[in-house]
Amino acid sequence: VNGFEGQEIAILGLGRSGLSAARALRAGGAEPVCWDDNPAARSIAEAEGFVCRDLGHVDGFRGISRLIVSPGIPHLYPVPNPVVAAAWDAGVPVDNDIGLFFRSLAVEDWDDHGATPRVIAVTGSNGKSTTSALIHHVLRHAGRDVQLAGNIGRGVLDIDPPGDGGIVVLELSSYQTELARALTPDVAVFTNLSPDHLDRHGGLGGYFAAKRRLFAEGGPERAVIGVDEAEGRFLANQLSEAAVDARVIRVSSGQKLTGPGWHVFARKEFLAEWRKGRQIASIDLRGVQGLPGAHNHQNACAAYAVVRTFGIAPRVIEAAFHAFEGLPHRSQTVAEAGGVRYVNDSKATNVDSAAKALAAFGKVRWICGGLQKEGGLEALAAASGSVVKAYVIGREAAAFAMQLGGMETEVCGDMATAVARASADAEDGDVVLLAPAAASFDQYDNFEQRGEDFAAQVHRVLEQAGGT
Ligand code: ADP
Repeated sequence: VNGFEGQEIAILGLGRSGLSAARALRAGGAEPVCWDDNPAARSIAEAEGFVCRDLGHVDGFRGISRLIVSPGIPHLYPVPNPVVAAAWDAGVPVDNDIGLFFRSLAVEDWDDHGATPRVIAVTGSNGKSTTSALIHHVLRHAGRDVQLAGNIGRGVLDIDPPGDGGIVVLELSSYQTELARALTPDVAVFTNLSPDHLDRHGGLGGYFAAKRRLFAEGGPERAVIGVDEAEGRFLANQLSEAAVDARVIRVSSGQKLTGPGWHVFARKEFLAEWRKGRQIASIDLRGVQGLPGAHNHQNACAAYAVVRTFGIAPRVIEAAFHAFEGLPHRSQTVAEAGGVRYVNDSKATNVDSAAKALAAFGKVRWICGGLQKEGGLEALAAASGSVVKAYVIGREAAAFAMQLGGMETEVCGDMATAVARASADAEDGDVVLLAPAAASFDQYDNFEQRGEDFAAQVHRVLEQAGGT
């Protein structure tokens, strides 16, 4: 990263993104000063020759011109981080790797030709990874030079600079948008909003505000906004300058969008693009295996809208959608046997994403539970019509099961039991779905490990069944 030559830049948090920021800053001639509460993380940084210093007091910031905070560190809620608070008191700007990235686009010639890449940024509560990956996939399919980074793919400071006409797709969490001092994508996407991570943002208002920063005044040339919740409609309305406004593209899964603007919506397995009150293109979503369910059609609409702004033709997009395999741990079919489909949606870590996963399938044997998030499970009731029975895992499985209302439940505790029980009960046409509606940390390191365990248990059960 250029623009900080000779300056001391503090880095808080020495995980993947912190170390990559430290390396990028050093490569640009800055002097990183690092800190992490965990001594093991400090040792790794020191082994790379980085200076570590306790930054938990105002004096620690003497001579420092900026603090870069990792997304994993809560800076403000539930309690202010002492290092961040010391930076505030010392008058030192607090930023993150995303801010550095956008700043670097502004200050340096990205490649020898002086061309900077076009940047697409995707935020929202659910569907960010799928939408980002789909945009990346379609652009690659169309032969564009494109990189995927941020929350998905590589760290934003680790990507290879794309050449002339290159494109960077960034998936951004609310933690990242909240702190970045520069946020200047060319195209920005807001998928949807539902309560998540509220403890870190001091409530829903703070969470929405963090995401809205991507659309601040003078922001993106094009804003693709999911309007299926009030927050999206509000945001789209605020960004619209007149009745016919090419800056905003409204996106919906399920609703026919009318009005004079630019709209993309999915209904009855078809995606339609309307401008100025007229349909100008449509795509058949039937048979697109990698994007099952209405929630994925929302992702498809958002991705479609973005790539249309890059001039990709509807037929090319349709072909690319058919070739999209989906992402691991999101509506991923891991096995099919005896008419039963086994689907891993371990990434459904909150109530809304799990409800969407349930709604995507017919008769579901539902494996759920784990470390519960705040807000209760009420929102699941509407989607639970498809559930034949719930098989509950997690350390607090019994308490989780109690909240599932009238549904038939079985407290299984661990994944092996849940998969074995669900598989034994399953009949032709059923889907055994892992969509936990909870975080994984009570039993696993992360949602990926949970999804891998599910797949392993499925294969074990099917092998045993095959052997009898
Ligand atoms: P994110 O990166 O925002 O967490 P993902 O694409 O990884 O989003 O999807 C996370 C989970 O959310 C998936 O497992 C799926 O169940 C659900 N999901 C995906 N897209 C949507 C959507 N548009 N609306 C609601 N839920 C979704």
